Amino acid sequence: MGNDPVNNVDLWGLWGSDVHFDDTLKWANEIFNDENKAQIIAKADNDVDSGFTNPVFGDQSWHFNTNNFSFTYYLFNESSSGTSEDSRVEHSNKQMEIAALLYNIGLEDESFRELGKGLHALQDLYAHDDKYVGYMFIVERWAHLGGDADNKKINSTGYDKTILATNNYLEQYQTRIENKNK
Ligand SMILES: [Zn+2]
Repeated sequence: MGNDPVNNVDLWGLWGSDVHFDDTLKWANEIFNDENKAQIIAKADNDVDSGFTNPVFGDQSWHFNTNNFSFTYYLFNESSSGTSEDSRVEHSNKQMEIAALLYNIGLEDESFRELGKGLHALQDLYAHDDKYVGYMFIVERWAHLGGDADNKKINSTGYDKTILATNNYLEQYQTRIENKNK
């Protein structure tokens, strides 16, 4: 699906493109009833796993909670967000604001794109077990060996929460842009 292949490997403890693209496309289409809009959102969501935000060597704050101090962040301070809230929650809240703002000035496609990025951070909240959050880079990544937190069939609780959070987020956006159009 044009996705970085590492993201479909279980040990990373992250949702793969089955959630970030395929499911998101379906969910966005259910809410907006607009295939083009849903495509832009799902692609932007999935694209967070590539480029400078990729979870392997990029900005991890989109995929893991990086607000906690950890030894590795101290050594390689490229990811620590230094914030009080979960870095993914911060990203999703910020993206909602940006998306609403862009829509309001007529940049609709850009708005859907920024919304998709926010969805990615939100969905990753439920992709893996909280006990891994804030752990060292290496531990966080490799402790997932054999783990099933990112397998949607096995982590059905996390998957259900992801569906709910996605719907709430998209509905919140819809309310925001409707209010701004009045
Ligand atoms: Zn991710």
